[in-house]
Amino acid sequence: MNNLNWSDIHTVFLDMDGTLLDLHFDNYFWREHVPQHYAKYKHLSLEIAKEQFYAECKAVEGTLNWYCVDFWTEKLGLDIALLKEEVAHLIAEHPFVIEFLQAVKKTQRPIILVTNAHQKSIDLKMRKTMFGEYLDQVISSHDLGFPKETPEFWHKLQTIYPFELAHTLLIDDSLSVLNAAREYGFQHLLVVRNPDTKQPPRNLDDFDVLESFAQIIPNK
Ligand SMILES: [Mg+2]
Repeated sequence: MNNLNWSDIHTVFLDMDGTLLDLHFDNYFWREHVPQHYAKYKHLSLEIAKEQFYAECKAVEGTLNWYCVDFWTEKLGLDIALLKEEVAHLIAEHPFVIEFLQAVKKTQRPIILVTNAHQKSIDLKMRKTMFGEYLDQVISSHDLGFPKETPEFWHKLQTIYPFELAHTLLIDDSLSVLNAAREYGFQHLLVVRNPDTKQPPRNLDDFDVLESFAQIIPNK
């Protein structure tokens, strides 16, 4: 990486979890914190609780419910928003995110958050970090009715926030989202190498890879 030519880029679309923010929070939350509380609540062993919860996750993977705080609150009988607050100290931006956003802002390119996260998660994350200050708009797939993995999401987004496919940069950590964006016709796509800094970096072949936001700080 990478041959990002900023003179071709007029608009910047950014994913939140795993892209601007370290996915460690979400991974820890869903893989450890939620199963622990679910086990306690249902009087199950942690192992059984994890098994049951992961099966529930599998059933809604790639749908809006997967990302929906209200869905999980009802499904599990746990106050998901409250549980998130308990581990909110783990919410953190990736290195050089703020420097990157400040530099893009200076060039006057619109910066749009494009996320599958539920509004309650977005609010919590913006309270705990600084990136929200630099955004021109926040688009949640929950408002559009389709997740970013589907072509419908991008069609719908085009109607509420018209953008030029040839001049819009999308940075995301999800390969299924990036594949949907490529099929829709995006010309400038970057995949985040290491969404969760506590996990080993991924091997990626299909898209230009972003190792660090320090690599793509624009100067004009
Ligand atoms: Mg993501």
